[in-house]
Amino acid sequence: MCDLRSLHGIGETRAKQFEKKGIHTIYDLIYYFPRDYEDRTHAKNIVSCLPGENVLVTASVISPIMEKRIRKNMVLYSMTVGDETGIMSVTWYNNRFVKDIFKVGDRYSFFGKINPNTRKKEMINPIYEQEGKEKFTGKIVPVYPLWSILTQKVIVSAMSEALKKMGMIDEYIPPDIRQKYGLCEINFALNSIHFPAVFNDFFIARDRLVFEELLFLQLALMYKKEAKDEVKREPFNNIQCVNEFITSLPFEMTGAQKRTISEILNDLKKDVPMNRLIQGDVGSGKTAVAAAVMYTTVKNGYQTAIMAPTEILAAQHFETFCEFFKNTGINICLLTGSTKKKKDIYEKIKSGEYNIIIGTHALIQESVEYSKLGLVIADEQHRFGVTQRARLSGKGEGVHTLVMTATPIPRTLAFILYGDLDISVIDELPPGRKPVETFAVGEDMRQRIYAFLQKHLKNGTQAYVVCPLIEETQKSDLENASSVCEKLQSILPDYNVGLIHGKMKPSEKDCIMNDFAQGKIHVLVSTTVIEVGVNVPNANIMIIENAERFGLSQLHQLRGRVGRGATQAYCILFAHGDNEVIKKRMEIMCKSNDGFLISEQDLKLRGPGDFFGTRQHGLPELKIANLFSDMAILKKAQTAAKSIIEKDKSLSLPQNAGIRKKIKEMFREDIILN
Ligand code: ADP
Ligand code: MG
Repeated sequence: MCDLRSLHGIGETRAKQFEKKGIHTIYDLIYYFPRDYEDRTHAKNIVSCLPGENVLVTASVISPIMEKRIRKNMVLYSMTVGDETGIMSVTWYNNRFVKDIFKVGDRYSFFGKINPNTRKKEMINPIYEQEGKEKFTGKIVPVYPLWSILTQKVIVSAMSEALKKMGMIDEYIPPDIRQKYGLCEINFALNSIHFPAVFNDFFIARDRLVFEELLFLQLALMYKKEAKDEVKREPFNNIQCVNEFITSLPFEMTGAQKRTISEILNDLKKDVPMNRLIQGDVGSGKTAVAAAVMYTTVKNGYQTAIMAPTEILAAQHFETFCEFFKNTGINICLLTGSTKKKKDIYEKIKSGEYNIIIGTHALIQESVEYSKLGLVIADEQHRFGVTQRARLSGKGEGVHTLVMTATPIPRTLAFILYGDLDISVIDELPPGRKPVETFAVGEDMRQRIYAFLQKHLKNGTQAYVVCPLIEETQKSDLENASSVCEKLQSILPDYNVGLIHGKMKPSEKDCIMNDFAQGKIHVLVSTTVIEVGVNVPNANIMIIENAERFGLSQLHQLRGRVGRGATQAYCILFAHGDNEVIKKRMEIMCKSNDGFLISEQDLKLRGPGDFFGTRQHGLPELKIANLFSDMAILKKAQTAAKSIIEKDKSLSLPQNAGIRKKIKEMFREDIILN
């Protein structure tokens, strides 16, 4: 009864196609939701049909179908139909199938578009069915995402039969929750999400289905967190020592940095591992916070490792930390893919001689063994998957984990993406920072921008020029980094223009970066490899080519590379194309220096799918909810999830049995519910 093959029109071949989408049973099928709807209820008399509109007309066939070849591959099939008010033609292109269907005198419902280009009334390529059938016309019809050989007709028919066959299913959301959040009943929701009688029913149904999807996701994440908290570890007993480090700094920590440090230290005093995310805009001083925590870790007798997404950044951290810890007796090493004499380093890590290990993915290689790992830090988290983070923490027992990201996201969303993490926010920049002045310009401004650049180079500052792609072959209309570099060098013969790109060997990149840091290179043309972390305070101009191709958060990150010194910094965005979204995006960049606001706008304009690649974060694919546009429902679902867990941590009360079953279905392997 549950087998798809029991539906009319679904045989072995089609069933196999459905299985490709994970649809094995009738039950799976009814949770496959439409992506859109077509309103085929809009019935009119022929006389009142207007050119260009989509309408439903019920009429009698007046003439037989005429076949007319108008071009080599184009055959028209046309007939005349009429109702009490007038006549019109009905025309199909290349649809041989309609030829033998209609008989003069038959009455049919036709749904389609009235040709906007002809004077006489004509409906083109309509959907049709005999009057009174009303399976595909005269109602709101779902539109499903299609794949392979399956057509809308097949899916719609299968769905309608599946809903009937399924009968009434048991409600699984407890009545008090449904009542509190105004959720409709499940059978109504499922029927109306596929075949809403009126559009309002669709909205009611969707609200309920979005709510339940987000509720289950929340509950599952809370379980993950609960499960993690059960590992015990030894608390750090010397927390005070952090002050030795803080007072040694050449600057005063900001209030936000101090608050974040104390939140972290509070975790380290506990007998369970910390799992915390630090969100902070570029330049907010995350590295100094990391250093304070690492210092404390070492003073408590543990090793600590920090993983950066690129070799350049790892090398920079290495230098920064060597400076921070220069008179402390703490031993620091750098371990990346290109590190020589790895064996030597491995041994000293294993023996505990190195207290702080800085590196890239090389840190999580199997051959790396730690002596007594107490804390791991992942910098710029969005570049790492959840699994990599887990592998790093897995290098010791009950290891504290700290994740740092410069792509701030709204707290509710952070909770979904990093549901297993606590969150600290550094929402304050060190004093004296001037916001980067940002301009969006078109091609017509290029000469003036180069003159502007030249003026600043003359004053002894440096500049970055960022281009999205390196290879001409990838997109011919894109300015690519190497041709930009050549062009700039010919315009600026008195200065050194350097090039750095992702396909270079790490050692080549380091070499170029060093030359830039030392002022030997004045203008550095690059692909996005400089995006994260790199610190050259003398650079005060950032020019970004094809800025429309970057995400706003990415642009904000890039822009954060300048404005690190005393001089006023500028960011110039060359943007092409004048569509509204591009204009809006550039406007946001020019107006705001606030990473949170920018990422929120970015989400709004791009949608969360693009933004995160949710799969990579290990989240299940959401069937109906949209993490950004359904933010209001998400908040309610979070509150509901909390109250459920508070009352019934193990979901063993009878009223929660339905929820429990659904979560297990949704997260088959990921969640262990006893
Ligand atoms: P992030 O990693 O958050 O982008 P960094 O930690 O690299 O930021 O800090 C940017 C710069 O600001 C560094 O040169 C750092 O030494 C400096 N800095 C950090 N905290 C402060 C502070 N409280 N006051 C002044 N300068 C600071
Ligand atoms: Mg940083």
